[in-house]
Formats: sequence, C-alpha cells, structure tokens
Amino acid sequence: MRHPQTPDLTEAERARILAKSALFDPPPAALADGRRELVGLSRSELAEEMAAISEAPFRARQLWHWIYHRGETDFSRMSSIARPLQRKLAECFVIGRPEAASVQTSADATRKFLFRFRDGQEAETVYIPDPHEDRGAVCLSSQVGCTLSCRFCHTGTQLLTRNLGAAEIVGQFMAARDAYGEWPSPKGETPRLLSTIVLMGMGEPLYNYANVGKAMTIAMDGEGIALSRRRITLSTSGVVPMMDRAGAELGVNLAVSLHAVRNDLRDELVPLNRKYPIEELIAACRRYPGASNARRITFEYVMLKGVNDSVADARELVRLIAGIPAKINLIPFNPWPGSRFETSGAAAIERFAGIVMDAGFASPVRTPRGRDILAACGQLRTEGRRPPVHLPARAPLRARPARLQP
Ligand code: SAH
Ligand code: SF4
Repeated sequence: MRHPQTPDLTEAERARILAKSALFDPPPAALADGRRELVGLSRSELAEEMAAISEAPFRARQLWHWIYHRGETDFSRMSSIARPLQRKLAECFVIGRPEAASVQTSADATRKFLFRFRDGQEAETVYIPDPHEDRGAVCLSSQVGCTLSCRFCHTGTQLLTRNLGAAEIVGQFMAARDAYGEWPSPKGETPRLLSTIVLMGMGEPLYNYANVGKAMTIAMDGEGIALSRRRITLSTSGVVPMMDRAGAELGVNLAVSLHAVRNDLRDELVPLNRKYPIEELIAACRRYPGASNARRITFEYVMLKGVNDSVADARELVRLIAGIPAKINLIPFNPWPGSRFETSGAAAIERFAGIVMDAGFASPVRTPRGRDILAACGQLRTEGRRPPVHLPARAPLRARPARLQP
C-alpha cells in the first residue's frame, strides 16, 4: 500500500502538531533591559500588561488604537495619553519593528525586505503592488526556513531554524506599511496600497499555527489594522488536520499548494503528501468552511516542464476538484540557484489552462513578479544565523527522501 499510515485526523493529531511546533517557538519578546514588547500581544494580554503596572483596562484599548490603527511606535507621540503615563509606558515597554537588514526593489516595483529579528534571525517579506490599481499584497513569512522540502522551492533547501512569533509575523506587515507611509492619516483615510496579506513567504504557516493565528487575529481586529478575513490568504502545502482548525477559527481565504494530481508524483514534489495524501487533502478542501463561488479555494499549481504539465494531468485535476468552488493558479516555475526544473513552455501552460477553464474553473497564469531580485514565489531563502540551540534533542520532523530527477 502506498500510504500505510492512515493519518489520524483527531484532536490528538492536532495537539501533536501544535506541541512539535512549540519546540521551535521564538525566544521571549523581552529586551535585555527588561522592557517588554507590546506588538503581538492579544487584547487580553495587553490588558494584563496594563494591570501589571496598575493601569486601568481602558488603557489597553487606547494603546491598541495607537499601535495597530495609527502605526505609532513612540509613546511620546500618543497625544491622548498624558505625559507622565507616556514616560511610564516607555520605561516598561517597547513597540518594536523587525529591522530591515536590506531592501531590494525589482524592475516591476515588487519590493523584497530582508527583516532581522531581535535574536539575529532573518526572514524575507515581499510587497507586490498591483500593476493596474493603487493596491497590493504583502507576502509574509511564517518561519525561518521550512521543515518541508518541496523539490521546486528554494526555502525548502533551508532547514527550519525556528518559528516566527506573532509579533514578528504581524510586525513584517507593520514594517512594510511604515516603509510606504501607509497608516491611516489622523483624518482616518484608509490605506489602500498595503491592503492584502498573503501567507506565502518562507515556511509552512500551518506548522506554526499558534503564532500565525494570533498574528492574523490581530490583523483582523476591527479597531486596529482591520483587514477583513477576505483580504487574507493562507497558503498551505496540505497540513490537513490544521486546515480544519484554521477554517473554523480564522476563516481566511485558503490556498492549497497542489502541484501534482497523482500520489506517486506529489509524494516526490511535495513530500508532505506521504503523510496527507491527495484524497485527504481534497476532502479537507471540500469541508473548508465558507468556501463558495464568491470565496473560492485557490489551488496553486507550479508548472514544471515535462513533470506535471500534461493533458492527462490537467484532466485528472478537473476530475479531482469537481464540485469544489475553486480557482487554479498556474504558477510558471521560478528558477533559483541550483534548481533542477524548467518552466513549462507557453504552449503547454496554455493547453493546461484551456482544459481547466473548459471545465468551468478560472485558471489564471500568475505573472512572475520580482524574479530579478529572487522575490517571486518559491525563491525566498535566508541563512539561518545559528543552529537552533534552544531545542532539545529530537527526531527530525521528516526524513528527506531521495531527490527527484526531473
Ligand atoms: N509553505 C506554503 C506557503 C509558501 S510558498 C506552501 O507551500 O503553500 C507559496 C507558493 O509558491 C506555494 O504554492 C509554493 O508551492 C510555490 N512555489 C514554491 N517554489 C516555487 C517555485 N520555484 N516556483 C513557483 N512557485 C513555487
Ligand atoms: Fe516549505 Fe512551502 Fe517551500 Fe514547500 S513550498 S518547502 S511547504 S515553503
């Protein structure tokens, strides 16, 4: 049998994933001088911090507005807070941002930030402006590296160093907004340029669900950044048990990295398939809450020349997803140094898209953005800056199977 281990989709399996993921959590968000980071706290944690310094709960609400609605990082500019309290807050807390270690802008205006966090770890964030309208998407990383090793992905060549914390995840978005001066004006004009989040950067968001969920809950809070859940898309390589949880708790748009329609091929391209095979992945998509024609599930499909781009593949794809409100994003493979695949030719992509479209699914071909600065899908990679020393000895999360020969 191809998949002898039937995945256990019970709460116990979710608990196992969450416990394993917690081993990779970031160091505590406190500075050497003892001040504590306010970004990344939930509303109730922020209220607890106020209680700890004997301040009334309404201060938490005031701060929330300054931190997440106005994007303020300096207590002394919080005009609704009296000077003595501003000083007290500044003694106890900081409102931090990841430091931009480098910023590169592509010929097509896509911008890639290399963000450095307090412990020196780094991750990349990409801003992708819409070429036609005054808006754009911020592509956030969820981990430094990735435990999975999808064969076509540059991040997959970098072992997981650690998860990003909620502050670091929402902090990437806030720092990108800073860079574009994109916070609401005091008059309340809404920012448009940075108005969408895609969790499609480095890492597998559903293997860092606790922090990703917390960060997105902050981003969706109506009194702060206030992005609607329709403006957030979480992309997963198929961590089936956590898909249900994300759907129920966050209800954000779902994108699924499918890339192959047969288990033998997907086992090689997306090794997580050995654990959660195609049938179970598709079943999880069918039960994803809120999927409708207005809110379709996106299937991402990287076009690899001679590997997954045949007519038979396209036909099997439409058979697999029949009845799911879905669109198929065809992503021409983006090469990276040392990659071993080729991008499908234009004719093959057109033929594939035609079959999918004839079956009634939108099948946009994604225009590569930021390829010249290695900012396109699957090109992100940083150097883990030190071994994950805070981790206890453990078995690897997965064995690396032999390399596929494309
Ligand atoms: N880890 C998550 C999200 C990040 S990747 C996931 O895998 O879904 C965002 C998308 O880019 C995924 O669909 C991923 O499979 C795809 N991708 C990875 N490497 C790529 C490459 N070299 N060219 C094109 N797309 C790639
Ligand atoms: Fe990780 Fe996604 Fe890259 Fe796969 S495609 S290695 S899950 S980041």
